[in-house]
Amino acid sequence: SERTLVLVKPDGVERGLVGEVISRIERKGLKLVALELKNVDRQLAEQHYAEHDGKPFFESLIEFITGGPVVAACVEGPKAIAAFRQLAGGTDPVEKAAPGSIRGDFGLEVQYNLVHGSDSPESAARELKLWFPELGA
Ligand code: ATP
Repeated sequence: SERTLVLVKPDGVERGLVGEVISRIERKGLKLVALELKNVDRQLAEQHYAEHDGKPFFESLIEFITGGPVVAACVEGPKAIAAFRQLAGGTDPVEKAAPGSIRGDFGLEVQYNLVHGSDSPESAARELKLWFPELGA
């Protein structure tokens, strides 16, 4: 079994899609290990998105993710990382995400793509330590 970090980003919280996202995670058979509504400060945002530092959209991304509360979850199950990325769909909600996925069903713009899921075991370990240090994974 594997753990991944899932975020419902500020656009998803603002639009009232928290229940929809959690429901899809549960219906897939994944388990919630931790769940929290959280205001993201600049330091956490920059650490979370460190790999994008220097890219043209970095500043806008940091402003977006710190602009309102997010829901952070630690999600567990067999192949949890790939399983949630399948639920989320591709990064661009129109060009990449298929209908039936969270982004494909609810998103239009690449920045406002509603959810985040860790993309590898290394990212999941790094991100879970940032968002849920108390889990001690
Ligand atoms: P996430 O890391 O949030 O799960 P991802 O792995 O699908 O998304 P990344 O390429 O890591 O996508 O980009 C991180 C986030 O940065 C995206 O989810 C999106 O919100 C934002 N983003 C990515 N590309 C762009 C872009 N070209 N313009 C604006 N925002 C972008």
